[in-house]
Amino acid sequence: IDLHDDSFSEKDVDFDKQLRPLTFDDFKGQKQIVENLKVFVQAAKMRGEALDHVLLHGPPGLGKTTLSNIIANELGVSLKLTSGPVLDKPGDLAGLLTNLEESDVLFIDEIHRLSPIVEEYLYSAMEDYKIDILIDKGPSARSIQLELNPFTLVGATTRSGLLTSPLRARFGINAHFEYYDLSILTGIVKRSASILKVEIKDQAAVEIASRSRGTPRIVNALLRRVRDFAQVKGNGKIDLEITRFSLEALNIDQHGLDEMDNKILTTIIDKFNGGPVGISTISTAVGEDSGTIEEVYEPFLIKEGFIKRTPRGREVTERAYKHLGKINYGGGQA
Ligand code: ADP
Repeated sequence: IDLHDDSFSEKDVDFDKQLRPLTFDDFKGQKQIVENLKVFVQAAKMRGEALDHVLLHGPPGLGKTTLSNIIANELGVSLKLTSGPVLDKPGDLAGLLTNLEESDVLFIDEIHRLSPIVEEYLYSAMEDYKIDILIDKGPSARSIQLELNPFTLVGATTRSGLLTSPLRARFGINAHFEYYDLSILTGIVKRSASILKVEIKDQAAVEIASRSRGTPRIVNALLRRVRDFAQVKGNGKIDLEITRFSLEALNIDQHGLDEMDNKILTTIIDKFNGGPVGISTISTAVGEDSGTIEEVYEPFLIKEGFIKRTPRGREVTERAYKHLGKINYGGGQA
């Protein structure tokens, strides 16, 4: 199973909705971001103005979409959702923008994938709440300016490095999401279990949390599968034993590393003697874009102590050798 996969089935979408926190206080972790947003949201409400535009960046599954929903809820406005690749032409964007009511939130996921013309079109909307639209065709075609209701754009991206500087400059609030630590993830497992009305032992919650790659989305995906095993192979309650059994059956890596994480480590060890090796060389060897490796995979591997950054490139650590059951022949200084 691919736990990173975003293409949820309908049932998964329902499940996801059920577990999604709806208020700032329900949303655990990312403390600094949440504390700051609470202030900005309250200030905007007190002034009766639209909240400044917000850019949320960080690896997938950490709660960017969830937090955008919460921002709209807490502002007491509606949220319209779209994504970079869906907005083909300026007209698509114009349609959305002109339908926004005062202070509404427009959420654009994968905002780094906007086409340049759509992006440019967004600038004046963000800056002055105005857009130009073209009316008529042929010789009588002319453009007119439309006033929009003041609104808040919330942009989310896993690849902030790909954002152009003019776009980046138009966000007044900028927040970087970090991987969650074990205690917060454990809390999320318990919260989800209680919403699903399934009993879970503390140790089992810790076990699921520790195998979830620091990511709430994976926590919920694993919990769902373990719940199935508990129901069919156990007594319906989730204890450590059934949890370990399920995770084993699902082939979930002990540290929650995914296929690409392991491929990166294996490649550095097998092909480059443990490193140091440059990011572009790794990228070619594993067949993944170097920016994605840098922004999506590497931060977790570094945080968990599998990779080190050195002036000469990336090096795997002894922990990586152990994890993969490989012997360090002394290539890198792991
Ligand atoms: P992103 O937009 O960053 O990819 P999502 O907002 O879609 O991530 O989050 C994935 C799922 O993880 C959500 O459906 C939600 O149920 C859960 N989740 C995310 N962040 C939190 C959190 N801080 N507390 C509890 N659940 C969370």
